Amino acid sequence: MPAPSEPARRSEPARRSEPARRVALVTGGSRGIGRAIALRLARDGYDIGLCYRSDDQAAELAVKEIRELGGRALAQRVDVTDRAQVKSFLAAAEDRLGPVDAAVTSAGITKDKPLVLMADEDWDAVLRTNLDGTYNLVHAAVFAMMKRRSGTVVTLSSVSGVRGNAMQTNYSASKAGIIGFTQALAKETGRYGIRVNAVAPGFIATDMTAGLSKKVSDDMLTRIALGRFGQAEDVAHLVAFLVSDQASYITGQVFQVDGGLAL
Ligand code: NAP
Repeated sequence: MPAPSEPARRSEPARRSEPARRVALVTGGSRGIGRAIALRLARDGYDIGLCYRSDDQAAELAVKEIRELGGRALAQRVDVTDRAQVKSFLAAAEDRLGPVDAAVTSAGITKDKPLVLMADEDWDAVLRTNLDGTYNLVHAAVFAMMKRRSGTVVTLSSVSGVRGNAMQTNYSASKAGIIGFTQALAKETGRYGIRVNAVAPGFIATDMTAGLSKKVSDDMLTRIALGRFGQAEDVAHLVAFLVSDQASYITGQVFQVDGGLAL
């Protein structure tokens, strides 16, 4: 008790304990769907390590926005087809941000052609980027998750991988491969407390789809039950749920976000 002459000491306001921030890696996190996922996860309290292939300006902008949302951010120029680069990205992210809780593989490309006109290079580039790129990050990241007995992986497939899409044999094969990869890994790692799911978007308005002809886009629109193209945020909302504890009993699934395109 203070002596009566002493001014009573004001007690410190009770400190609210800050919830620990989690760490998410997002490949292709500088633009489009990956960017929307990175921003949404930052808003949900994640620190973000993102990688991209070449567009430094887009990456810098994404980092700025993540920081404005209160998250720490690391952006690294990485070609996901290059295993050494992916490993160095993971090491830098672990060093700067801490152990990885969520790995999201959004880096992807298209090179659409009928099969008879497809150059070997178009086949190789799409398979290397989409499928090998997914393997490269997840293979590098999952062992640490297994040791910690915690972690989530979300891969980006596509409705083209669920059903196959004409002019996209390379892309459809890569995205179907991602589904097999996701399901197999979910079975392998579930007992280590790791969840692995795939998201299969339909037609989402990003740079990837901006290059399609008006005829293709108009035709696609007539096939979408909701009558509109999706937004990158539509996919990001689902990914945010899948990496969260609310999805703790969900693994090995493929979720279509396509406005009813592939019904
Ligand atoms: P996007 O707008 O073209 O963005 C692609 C992102 O991937 C960019 O950040 C790009 O980096 C990065 N990237 C591409 N190749 C890379 C490489 N080799 N190494 C590292 N990063 C690389 O594409 P999006 O529409 O957001 O698509 C994201 C994912 O969703 C893809 O896997 C795509 O297949 C899938 N998806 C999209 C749709 C759709 O309708 N948009 C539908 C189904 C599935 P730079 O900018 O530096 O090149």
